[in-house]
Amino acid sequence: MKTKEPFPQHVDQLFTDSRVATMANSAYSIIENGCIGVTGKKIAWVGPKQALPEDYRNKCDQILDCKNRFILPGFVDCHTHLVWAGSRSNEFEMRLKGVTYEQIARKGGGIVSTVSATRKAAVETLFDLASKRLEALLKNGITTVEIKTGYGLNLETELKMLDVVNLLNQRFAQHIEATFLGAHTLPPEYKGNRKAYLDLVINKMLPKVKSQGIATAVDVFCENIAFSLDETKQIFKKAIDLGFNVKLHAEQLSDSKGAAIASQFNALSCDHLEYLSFESAQTMAEKNVTAVLLPGAFYFLKEEQKPPIKIFRQLKIPMAVATDLNPGSSPVHSMPLVLNMACILFGMTCEEAILGATINGAKALGLENLKGSIETGKDADFVVWDIQTPADLCYLAGLSPIKMVVIKGAVQYEKNDSHS
Ligand SMILES: [Zn+2]
Repeated sequence: MKTKEPFPQHVDQLFTDSRVATMANSAYSIIENGCIGVTGKKIAWVGPKQALPEDYRNKCDQILDCKNRFILPGFVDCHTHLVWAGSRSNEFEMRLKGVTYEQIARKGGGIVSTVSATRKAAVETLFDLASKRLEALLKNGITTVEIKTGYGLNLETELKMLDVVNLLNQRFAQHIEATFLGAHTLPPEYKGNRKAYLDLVINKMLPKVKSQGIATAVDVFCENIAFSLDETKQIFKKAIDLGFNVKLHAEQLSDSKGAAIASQFNALSCDHLEYLSFESAQTMAEKNVTAVLLPGAFYFLKEEQKPPIKIFRQLKIPMAVATDLNPGSSPVHSMPLVLNMACILFGMTCEEAILGATINGAKALGLENLKGSIETGKDADFVVWDIQTPADLCYLAGLSPIKMVVIKGAVQYEKNDSHS
C-alpha cells in the first residue's frame, strides 16, 4: 500500500471519511478513515486521513465527505456478449413447460434466432438495446466491460457489432474492450461446410476486423458443439500474427484441452473451465493465464460440474468472475448477484469473488496496470457502497447497495435517497 507517498501540491477532488478496500497487492486490506485524491482522470493519492498534511484543504479544489461508506474499485466485467437483438424469454418459458432444447432449435430458436435477429437489426437498434444493458451494469458498479461479437457470423454483421461497440465506447463513460468471436458457432448456412466457414473467419474476417481497428482480442468457443482444438489453433495462429490478444471459451461442457492450447498461445484468459484437467491447469499456471469463472451460465444451465477452485488456489492461478451477459445462457445484469453465485455455487470466498470482479477481472483483459484496484497512478474508477463490510456485496443477494459510481474521476451515477 502506497500510503507513505507525500500528498501532492494540489488535487482536483478529495474523497474523505471512507473505508477504502483498495485491492492493491490482490488483498482487500482496508484503509480505515481513508481518503482518495483524484486529479484529472487518475488517482493521485490514497491513504488514511491522519496522513494528510495539515493544510490539505488548501490543496484540494473539492472535498467530498463519504460519511464512512465503503469505497471499492469499480467492477471489471471481463466477459459479456451484451450486443444482441431479439428475445429468448419465450424459449425460457417453453423450456420450463418441458419443451426440449432440440425441439426449440428445430423451430429456429436458440442461438440461431439471436443471430438472425442481430443480422436484421440496424446499428441504431442494436445500440439502443445494448445501451440499456450497459446502463444496468453501470448501476451495479461495473466501470469496465468486455463485449464480444459472435451473433453476426458473417463479415458484415460481425463488423456491424463492432461498430456498435465503438459507439457505446464513445457515448458511455465505462471503458469497453471489444473482442471478436466470429468462431462462436457454425452459422446455419455453413452446415456441412465447416472448412469454408473457418476459411472465412481466418482469411477474410480476421484481417478486416484488424483493419477496422476496434477489437483488441480474438476469442473462440472451443467445444465439441462448436470449434475443435485444431480449428482453434488455426484461428489463434492468424490472430497472433495480426497482433491480437487471444482468449478462449474452454472446457465448459467437456475436457477438450482447449485451455492448454490457449495457454501455449499466451492467452489473456480461459473462460468457463468447469471440466478443466489438472494438467491443463498447470499449463495455465506456467503461462500466467487468468481463469474467468462464469457462475451465471452454470446456474442458468443448471450445470453440475463445478470449476476446480481448489486447483486454482493450489496453483495460484488468478480467478476472475464475470456476468457472461448473453441472451441464451446468462441473462444476468448484476455483478453483486454474480458474486453471490460465485460464493454459493462455486465455493469461492467473498475475498476471492471480489478480487475476481476487480483486479483479476482487469488482469483477464490485460488492463491490470490501469484498472481493478485503488492505487496511485491508476484510473480513478471506484464505487461508493452503503455496506458494513465488502462481504455484504456477496451476501445481500439481489441488492445493489450502491451510492455513487466514479469513472475516470467523474461521477457517472449517484443514487439519491432522502435519508442519506
Ligand atoms: Zn461467453
